Amino acid sequence: MIRALILGGTADASLLAAEIARAGIDAVYSYGGRTRPPADQPLPTRIGGFGGVSGLADYIRREGITHVIDATHPFAAEMSRHAVEACADTNAPLIALERAPWTRVSGDNWIEVADVNAAVAALPEVPTNVFLAIGRQHIAPFAAKPQHAYTLRFVDPPEASLPFAADVIVSRGPFTLDGELEMLHTRGIAWIVARNSGGDGARAKIDAARMLGLPVIMISRPELPERQRVESVTDVMQWLGHSARLGA
Ligand code: NAP
Repeated sequence: MIRALILGGTADASLLAAEIARAGIDAVYSYGGRTRPPADQPLPTRIGGFGGVSGLADYIRREGITHVIDATHPFAAEMSRHAVEACADTNAPLIALERAPWTRVSGDNWIEVADVNAAVAALPEVPTNVFLAIGRQHIAPFAAKPQHAYTLRFVDPPEASLPFAADVIVSRGPFTLDGELEMLHTRGIAWIVARNSGGDGARAKIDAARMLGLPVIMISRPELPERQRVESVTDVMQWLGHSARLGA
């Protein structure tokens, strides 16, 4: 008997949850709880951290989890590392559902950097208008360049004060190309800082930047330990021994 644990919080995780529910597989969907859950899931859900590697390993044993699917965001590196270790400790099979990163196409003006601190360093010294398309927990280092006018976009309204003055847009994607073109144009954005999340939902800003000839400081994905990784819901369903009806 399968009892799957989906580490979720992404659009792909929701697609997978729908497929798993349709197939009648026993499963739990886990949210990190940093943002409001975006959608009801057709599976039992739990919210919040497990308490590190040992907490996740305890959960796997206690709940009789037979398969773990890491469908977290490609930048949710801590959760993904914990999943690798906890699955090794408990001998629970693990698969990662992770969309491919974006690749540079003709016309893109990307400056690729390894992390947020390198992104701050890559910004110019002369004051300019910057769109920071990164999560709120990563913005603090940009306080080192207070000369810029920053536009931030968050899924939920900020609860605490920000580390520097900024214009905040509250919106949950996916975003359209027309919408992104208008946002960048009306705010006079000259530089974009983004993470290489991949997928279609967040891609419009990258396409818009190319069309407007704007430079993008692109933060590469974090390094993760070796693990089995697939890019589609269909592949995860096959791994579970089922065929997906929808696929993705
Ligand atoms: P993270 O830095 O890798 O994780 C920090 C801690 O949060 C983990 O060690 C774990 O706590 C807990 N956690 C994270 N995801 C969890 C999950 N699905 N279920 C239970 N606990 C979880 O993660 P993050 O970048 O803050 O992302 C948190 C959640 O937001 C994830 O579900 C992710 O898929 C989603 N999300 C993230 C981004 C992003 O840009 N990073 C974007 C969209 C969605 P314990 O150590 O206590 O177990």
